[in-house]
Amino acid sequence: MQDWKQISEAITGASVINVFTHIHSDGDCVGSAFALAYFLSNFGKKINIICEEKPPENLAHIYEAELPENINFYVYDENNAADTEIPCGDAAIAVDVSDSKRLGARQELFFKAPVTVRIDHHISNDTFANVTVCNSQWAATAEGIWEYVKNYENWEKIPYITEIAKSVYTGILTDTGSFAYSNVTPDTHSIAAETIRVAGSMAWIYSAIYENQTKEEIALKAMAYGKVEYFEEGKIAYLQITREEMEKTGADDDALSGLAPFLRSIKGVSVGILVKPGKLSGQWRLSLRSDEHCDVNAVANAFGGGGHIRASGLTYLPESGMPFDEFKEKLIGEVKNGWCD
Ligand code: 5GP
Ligand code: MN
Repeated sequence: MQDWKQISEAITGASVINVFTHIHSDGDCVGSAFALAYFLSNFGKKINIICEEKPPENLAHIYEAELPENINFYVYDENNAADTEIPCGDAAIAVDVSDSKRLGARQELFFKAPVTVRIDHHISNDTFANVTVCNSQWAATAEGIWEYVKNYENWEKIPYITEIAKSVYTGILTDTGSFAYSNVTPDTHSIAAETIRVAGSMAWIYSAIYENQTKEEIALKAMAYGKVEYFEEGKIAYLQITREEMEKTGADDDALSGLAPFLRSIKGVSVGILVKPGKLSGQWRLSLRSDEHCDVNAVANAFGGGGHIRASGLTYLPESGMPFDEFKEKLIGEVKNGWCD
């Protein structure tokens, strides 16, 4: 059990609390942020949830839901931020954020708060916040949020417990590949079971997230399947998708999310490397997935990224001065180094 008291103590006097997700938001950080916001809204606090960019469409069941009047949801891109003037709050809480760089353009706003907190499950020694509660045994940060909520004596009866349960389930479902990955523990299933007891069947959440593929997404996948490259006798699968290819199929960035785990699902493949266009021209975002044969957190660390042993990410920046082809070769070399046979 984590030391949740230190968080409660840190935020007890705060009347406005900002909750931050990581850049390129996913089901876990969005689910965790909303679950935490619903919970804290019960204590007379005003909560602002601040995402860097609009989260993926398939999480709309969370971020487009009608919110209590003391919860606000902001999408912070530079333009929006200037318009809305989000207050810095009395406390700032980052969820599922392993390193302050993952706060993107919101770093300044986060650190302006007099009290900062981090709740996370990544392998990271980063101590960017005043108070950190991090457990890499949680399959998802959302597991931790549920544990926090359950510390409250009458947790089953608190307002918004159904919304909290749905948000937590979304975080767990997405970060475990629908309860399939090796990060799943008996606790993961117990917590999921509890959320279903509270909120009823969650089948519709699976459907909302995974059974809403657009025709453009299918066109992108058809193209992508045809251009997978293999290295190391087929143990490494590499797929690079360009902005032009995405534009040709009409698919948006959300369409790429299922491709990294897909690479690992190929027979004989231990490590999947998905390379997606980055925010600016010349930048690339990489998603690494592995089985027990490679620690891709270590691989990502070598390039300034991070994450988990079986799922990590990093960014290639042209400013590094290394041509992309050379970077690719180095990356594959690093994967080979990380092999733990
Ligand atoms: P994804 O491939 O889904 O973007 O990320 C896989 C995992 O690695 C996630 O847990 C994500 O938070 C983490 N991750 C992705 N990109 C980065 C990065 O650039 N830095 C760090 N530290 N973690 C990352
Ligand atoms: Mn997570």
